[in-house]
Amino acid sequence: MKIVTAEAFKEERCRALETSALTSSVDDTVLNIIQTVRKEGDAALFRYTEQFDGAKLDILELSEKEWERAMFKVDPNVLGALTTAKEQIEQYHRLQKEKSWFEQVRPGVTLGQKVTPIERVGIYVPGGKAVYPSTVLMNVLPAKIAGVKEIYIVTPPDREGNISPSIIAAAKLAGADTIFKVGGAQAIAALAYGTETIPKVDKITGPGNQYVARAKKWVFGDVAIDMIAGPSEICIFADDTTNVSFAAADLLSQAEHDEMANAICVTTSDSFAEELQKEVAEQVKQLERYEIANASIEQFGRIIIANNIEEAHDIINFIAPEHLELMNEDAVSSMQQIQHAGAIFLGPYGPEALGDYVAGPNHTLPTSGTARFASPLGVYDFMKKSSIIHYTEEAFMREADAVATIANAEQLTGHAKSVLIRKEFFQ
Ligand code: NAD
Repeated sequence: MKIVTAEAFKEERCRALETSALTSSVDDTVLNIIQTVRKEGDAALFRYTEQFDGAKLDILELSEKEWERAMFKVDPNVLGALTTAKEQIEQYHRLQKEKSWFEQVRPGVTLGQKVTPIERVGIYVPGGKAVYPSTVLMNVLPAKIAGVKEIYIVTPPDREGNISPSIIAAAKLAGADTIFKVGGAQAIAALAYGTETIPKVDKITGPGNQYVARAKKWVFGDVAIDMIAGPSEICIFADDTTNVSFAAADLLSQAEHDEMANAICVTTSDSFAEELQKEVAEQVKQLERYEIANASIEQFGRIIIANNIEEAHDIINFIAPEHLELMNEDAVSSMQQIQHAGAIFLGPYGPEALGDYVAGPNHTLPTSGTARFASPLGVYDFMKKSSIIHYTEEAFMREADAVATIANAEQLTGHAKSVLIRKEFFQ
């Protein structure tokens, strides 16, 4: 893990952004898949599932029997932990639910905002290299709390055409309507445009690999999406009071996600930086996913030395990390100085893994610096708003001239007339 100054880190980041190019070969593949699914529907889905996942299917939808069997097959300990996670995720997300409001804002003018759920949502659950039941809970539960009527999961099957029991159990616990055995760009195209079996949805959420991410970007506009997830990131703010083994373990918990993951520590202490460098090198050897974690640490792992607390806050805001752990002495004061971060974990008892599974807040967070303008997935992502406007006759007469004046200034005389015609009628 390299030790660098804040200035050197900023320069390196800016250079990386300048040279990052779009993966055009992935885009070619993805666009071709989307067009084919639009043209051929289910037939294309069966073909791609055989080609990319090695599964020859007759039916895309999970059967009743498969739903039932999964509940017996899933490890009872896993089911217990998923049930705890479900309850705690619900507890947090219920607090996010927004209410409609109506208010008389001026004499005779009542305005409001009516909040309604999106009707149909499709959730992508990755299924290529690993199994992510937590992704099911983190996406389905906020949609359920928002009041979404139809929730469909898409996820790639294994070579035998099966879906992991823990995914099915999580989908059942969370209350998804059904699961379709299809993954990749083809699943995103099916949800965006509909096929004989898969209904067209209004919004697609959920993470996935580069084929899934690019497909979401291409179908955006025809359908809503949550965000484009990049590689996972953690940033830890540490000082001489921080437990070095905790910090190393937390950095590696992100690094093991994939080779592209970013594990960064910002510290005001030179001696801590050196200790941490040694500790990470030691702990990484003990990981089952050593190859992945080591590649990520070697390529993207950084320990940034800040000259003082202010410079540390500045570099953290510059990074706008997906996960931020404040393990420095005065974490609460630092939290007040942080403007850009997906999730902020305070103190020594807040490893990022807590937030991945059971704490309650959503683990789908803005990555790649997008925390500058984006928020964690939440109930609000599954709701929309309509403005409500009501005028009495008196209020209308009071404001009609202002409307006509602006309409005429914009040369929209039809607009002006729609107001003046009423004014004449009531006078
Ligand atoms: P995936 O389900 O995203 O992708 C598998 C699918 O990719 C296959 O079904 C296939 O259709 C498609 N594919 C593979 N190779 C292809 C090719 N050459 N051409 C066209 N399509 C191809 O599963 P994955 O690959 O394991 O990736 C999962 C990703 O999701 C990882 O990057 C992981 O880090 C991420 N993830 C993120 C979160 C989060 O909350 N941010 C949670 C879980 C997983």
